[in-house]
Amino acid sequence: MDATVARAEVLEVQMPLKEPFVTGFGSTDTRRTVLVHVVDADGHEGWGEAAALDHPFYLPDTTSGTFAVVSEWALKLAGEGTAAPGEVASRLCAIRGNTFARAGVEAAFWCLEASRQASSMAALFAAAAGTPVRTHVPVGESVGIHPTVQSTLDAVERAVGAGYQRIKLKVKPGWDEEIVAAARDRLGPAAMLQVDANGSYSLGTDDIQRLERLDRYGLACIEQPLAWDDLAGHAALQRRIETPICLDECLRSVADVQRALDMGACRNVNLKPGRVGGATAALEIRRICVDAGVALWCGGMLESGVGRALNLALCALEGFSDPADMAPASKLYEFDLVEPTFDVEPDGTIAVPSAPGLGFPVTSARVAQCTLRRAEVAVRPSL
Ligand SMILES: [Mg+2]
Repeated sequence: MDATVARAEVLEVQMPLKEPFVTGFGSTDTRRTVLVHVVDADGHEGWGEAAALDHPFYLPDTTSGTFAVVSEWALKLAGEGTAAPGEVASRLCAIRGNTFARAGVEAAFWCLEASRQASSMAALFAAAAGTPVRTHVPVGESVGIHPTVQSTLDAVERAVGAGYQRIKLKVKPGWDEEIVAAARDRLGPAAMLQVDANGSYSLGTDDIQRLERLDRYGLACIEQPLAWDDLAGHAALQRRIETPICLDECLRSVADVQRALDMGACRNVNLKPGRVGGATAALEIRRICVDAGVALWCGGMLESGVGRALNLALCALEGFSDPADMAPASKLYEFDLVEPTFDVEPDGTIAVPSAPGLGFPVTSARVAQCTLRRAEVAVRPSL
């Protein structure tokens, strides 16, 4: 078996969303994302997605910048040695920040390795983590900021009716207690409900009272209430509120997660492989959270089916204690880039594929239809 990469390319694709996704940092009606594709000399394929957003209002990484880092640096670096995913991840650590670019390239090599071994990605991750793999992953739904309370409640009811096991409401100052109270009233006391503020609250203002008032609604967590880089502020806030703080934007590496837990800045971790630099880092964060007994779940970046395949394989591992953010492509997009794609079953779970490689066939015609630009990258493996 020839373990060298014969061909490597990076593609920027644009997928139309069925309806705009509105959060505390704006509205999105298309999804531009970056795909990484590697093929070895035996014809095995690896696909990965570098799912930065197309604006710099979530994190500094953007789609355009990620395309540049992947095509100019990351893919070449990854190809300069063995294709073993763990070693690829080590080489990519030379790149600072740019976590989505690194993660997308590393993902393609995990997928390639799974194809070579005729293994599922979930089985590869399970072997690396030394933990069993689940056949189904429980999922929750994220409900964006709607024009009215009523339309939000309608979306909540649709999600509950579809079986989702947890509802997450996007909130911001002024769009918080009223909608949380209404959703709690509609869902009843036992339902798993949480909120995500995307860093829109500030300490030192009456925001603190707004957040304290949310304690009475039995939320599973308040996600990223304060600024994207403010671990100390979150530690101070966590001392004042009972609801567990979950961090998203603040956690961009293994070290960030360890530091946040050591400081008491969160009691719940949203893990997005792209945000922390890839699956190898994600596996280490899973271990840290399991050891610390901290709630852990896989967040979403509105990925295409390519990126979701890796997320699904990862959170098939035991230790992901809470439902994942993983609405199916049929809900988000006019079409997916994999066919068939996954769907949510009536019990609010997604079946983890056992097929080799990505687990979902990539539809090259769809990818071509969505491609805005493409770069072939020369890799020179030294074995
Ligand atoms: Mg979030």
